[in-house]
Amino acid sequence: MSTVLGTLDHVLLMAPGPSPVAPNVLQAMSLPTLGHLDPDCIKVMDALQDQLRAVCKTENAVTFPISGTGSAGMETSFVNLIEPGDAVLVVNNGVFSSRMVEVASRLGAEVDVVESPWGTPVKIEDVKAQLAKKHYKILAVVHAETSTGVNNPVAEIGELVKGSDTLYLVDSVAGLGGVDVQVDNWGIDAFYSGSQKCLSVPPGLAPASFSEAAMDAMSKRKNKVPNWYLDVSLIRKYWEGSPRVYHHTAPINMYYGLHQALDNLLTEGLDAAFARHKAMHQRLVDGLSDMGFSLYVKEGAAPQVNLFVPPAGVDANALRGCLREKHKIEVAGGLGALAGKVLRVGVMGEGARPEAIDKLLTAIRTCIS
Ligand code: PLP
Repeated sequence: MSTVLGTLDHVLLMAPGPSPVAPNVLQAMSLPTLGHLDPDCIKVMDALQDQLRAVCKTENAVTFPISGTGSAGMETSFVNLIEPGDAVLVVNNGVFSSRMVEVASRLGAEVDVVESPWGTPVKIEDVKAQLAKKHYKILAVVHAETSTGVNNPVAEIGELVKGSDTLYLVDSVAGLGGVDVQVDNWGIDAFYSGSQKCLSVPPGLAPASFSEAAMDAMSKRKNKVPNWYLDVSLIRKYWEGSPRVYHHTAPINMYYGLHQALDNLLTEGLDAAFARHKAMHQRLVDGLSDMGFSLYVKEGAAPQVNLFVPPAGVDANALRGCLREKHKIEVAGGLGALAGKVLRVGVMGEGARPEAIDKLLTAIRTCIS
């Protein structure tokens, strides 16, 4: 008997997720598995919640990772807050905000959108104008649009609903750990991220946080949350209850990895990590500009998600193929209308290091020369 595992390439992950995982995180994940109610497992879970509050800058009691990828965080946020007929406003300027529209619509919400062209951040005045026309239960925004490389002005948009009964829902799957997130100061009521982007953990967990207002809205639901697995009122009994109540079998080895990665991040310091992401973004932009590539986003470019238009004569897909086959480096292609036209490069977590950026630049130079 044999497996294929020994034949797998060691690939440098420079797409906007998943990102490279630090050796001490992989090591942590290989520690012996514990039972989901073992006192030591509870110890890890308690530590994780404290770390996540620090990284998300929140005092929210309900702050824990959902078992599942970033999309599970999205589903959890919407399914717990929406009842059929609820009015939801989605700021839509990319693939992932379109996914929000789909998820909210499937739950029976009446969804309106404020659109802005792909590659540009949404205009605050447009959101303000729509909010003036109608009362919404939820205003939903994607912080970092991984499909376009734009960081939306989440703090400023949040100001528009502060003090109102509209709940503010933010997706920072591609932001948390790479750029500043301030759940409490920005008035965010429902927040989720993903483990595999700037946190540099393999995919599989969606850190999430819910404000008191969000929990209050959940407690006032007329109907049960229509999804048992993602029902926050049940999951929280496992994360906070005394005694802890089994909900589902915890992916404990993922918790070990996230615990170590958050420790790496907090030890470096959040501000230092954000500065590193910015500096590595600049190193990449400078290096690729020298080779004739241009940044697709002109305003609001996210340091952690970079879209580049190749120079004339360079085919984006052929370049990606060369990078993967000859240099064992993964970068992503464009999504939707940008398919085949751009390269999407992540400067995320452990990928936001000079060695990774320089290795990628050297490989691109070789591929196009
Ligand atoms: N939201 C954003 C902004 C993302 O970038 C992604 C994934 O790339 C998701 C949601 C969905 O996350 P996942 O693919 O982990 O389910």
